Amino acid sequence: MNKESISGLILAGGRGTRMGHVDKGLQPFGGTTMVAHVLARLEPQVATVAINANRNEDTYAAYGVPVWPDETQDYAGPLAGLQAGLRRCATTYLLTAPCDSPFLPADLAERLHEGLRAAGADLAVAVTEENGRRQVHPVFCLLKTDLEPVLSAYLNGGGRRMDGWYPQIKVAEVLFDDADAFRNINTLDELRALDTASTRPPRLADVVSCLSAYDPDALPVRDAQRIIRDFVTPVRATEMVALRAALGRVLAADIISPIDVPSHDNSAMDGYALRGSDLPVDAPARLTVIGTAYAGRAFDGSPRPGECVRIMTGAVMPAGCDSVVPQEFVSVDGDTMVIAPGTIRIGDNRRLAGEDLRSGSAALRAGKVVRPADLGLLASLGVAEVPVQRRLRVAFFSTGDELRSIGQPLDEGCVYDSNRYTIYGMLQRLGCDLIDMGVVRDDPQALEQALRDACENADAIITSGGVSVGAADYTKQIMARLGDVTFWKIGMRPGRPLAFGRIHSNGRSAFLFGLPGNPVAVMVSFYFFARDALLRMMGADAPLELVRARAAATIRKKPGRTEYQRGILTRAADGQPTVTITGSQGSGILRSMSEANCMVVLHDEQGTVQAGELVDVLLFEGLI
Ligand code: AMP
Ligand code: MG
Repeated sequence: MNKESISGLILAGGRGTRMGHVDKGLQPFGGTTMVAHVLARLEPQVATVAINANRNEDTYAAYGVPVWPDETQDYAGPLAGLQAGLRRCATTYLLTAPCDSPFLPADLAERLHEGLRAAGADLAVAVTEENGRRQVHPVFCLLKTDLEPVLSAYLNGGGRRMDGWYPQIKVAEVLFDDADAFRNINTLDELRALDTASTRPPRLADVVSCLSAYDPDALPVRDAQRIIRDFVTPVRATEMVALRAALGRVLAADIISPIDVPSHDNSAMDGYALRGSDLPVDAPARLTVIGTAYAGRAFDGSPRPGECVRIMTGAVMPAGCDSVVPQEFVSVDGDTMVIAPGTIRIGDNRRLAGEDLRSGSAALRAGKVVRPADLGLLASLGVAEVPVQRRLRVAFFSTGDELRSIGQPLDEGCVYDSNRYTIYGMLQRLGCDLIDMGVVRDDPQALEQALRDACENADAIITSGGVSVGAADYTKQIMARLGDVTFWKIGMRPGRPLAFGRIHSNGRSAFLFGLPGNPVAVMVSFYFFARDALLRMMGADAPLELVRARAAATIRKKPGRTEYQRGILTRAADGQPTVTITGSQGSGILRSMSEANCMVVLHDEQGTVQAGELVDVLLFEGLI
């Protein structure tokens, strides 16, 4: 599914009759408002979200999304909201959800889209079954935006039922397992009862129960990733920083452009501004040059027919001129400029006001990690300060009696602690605030103390070592004692063992990632499990991008587990990206990582890859 083709619409336009006329979406819930929950659930699934509301529009707008009121009079119900959505939305599909459904499924868009496509339908609607009774949820639907005329005709004819217009279109019903996810909240009492329940953070057991088959001792990579994603929650604190300091930070709100960019029609070339109507089709045009327009110094006059103005790149277009001919295409004799027929078309080389950005439109979206181009874009809008998420605090330490820190003598059988440096590097690239807690011995008291300290000071904790089955590894016991932690054997190589959960100490809590000890396994587990979760906690939207490359030689692989092989990506003689596996792939051999410039990702179902076949590759460069 291409989420860029879908806009989300939260239906919040009702009168709240059953709630004593309060605005349902704005009711407090789970530490924020109901609509904020719906927004948080919908946003990752679609390109953009808007809210349909007929009251308190400013309050809704403060969530940083467009607010679209009904376009028909007198509260025609949710269908009028749907109509407003269809009229305004700029994508092929519109996905709707009501503002009082804070538990809506994380895969709503994906499943409805799948159902719509499979059935060749115009609209897909969610359906659940409870005690053998089929329940249709017409307010949870995905539909083609070109249905607007059909819907409007139904509304104009007095139709009001959400599903009343279904006979005129092709509808696909999509069955969802979790009826609770569609629960909506109708009375204030119901709301309060649920609110107390939902302030309790979810338990791992609840999250895990959403999987159809769950075996912690043979967990597929994508199930582990999904559990982690569903369990972690974003840190809500934000701050304003000066523009330059926003580099690498995560935007906490959409940035709305206060101006049109560019603010005037202007020239894209050094040349001559003219009226397109002065150009004969089959004869040269001879125009009189009456002045010059510079960037920052406009020509103040209006050329008459037969006249033109010498113009520099970026200069404001003189009144009445609509085209620019580049200077190298003309001949000039005194103050006469001559253009051959067919040199340009009307409108050429003119940049229109608002062409880059319209005033009032979102220049950048919340969740974006600010890059150099974004700094420039923000500067072009005159934005001096930017709302960003506060930095995520991450504590990390290594565990193992055999570990020595740099500067200590390397006793018999010991190794230098390298993981703490790799982890430091990876966290630093993510822009976290770091708390390096050193090496912790395989000793229950030392481990407990370290975990508690970390938990009381950080949002997340990353440890390495001690989560496999080694006899001296107390790490697992202590972790389990301090909170809701699960231990997995993941179907992957390298890096099978992983501890994940949330621990508590003195009223504070932190998410915990217990990575394996082997140096390569640490990096693989970090990139494929911890990174995404940390970014999610930071409120960032930056999924791992895999690229496709051709395998230079056969890569041996057993189906049934995911393998991450270190590779070197180059361009072959024919210009195609081609990947070669680096020599030694042992999970302790950090050199294989250091020599590699990418990792080849061989998915569960894949078997041996033949030379010339395409594989997925994760490039190290640019990995933030
Ligand atoms: P463990 O998971 O604790 O059994 O460790 C597995 C392997 O990784 C052992 O060979 C450890 O010596 C090694 N190892 C664990 N932690 C580190 C570290 N911080 N730096 C380098 N090697 C480590
Ligand atoms: Mg160990």
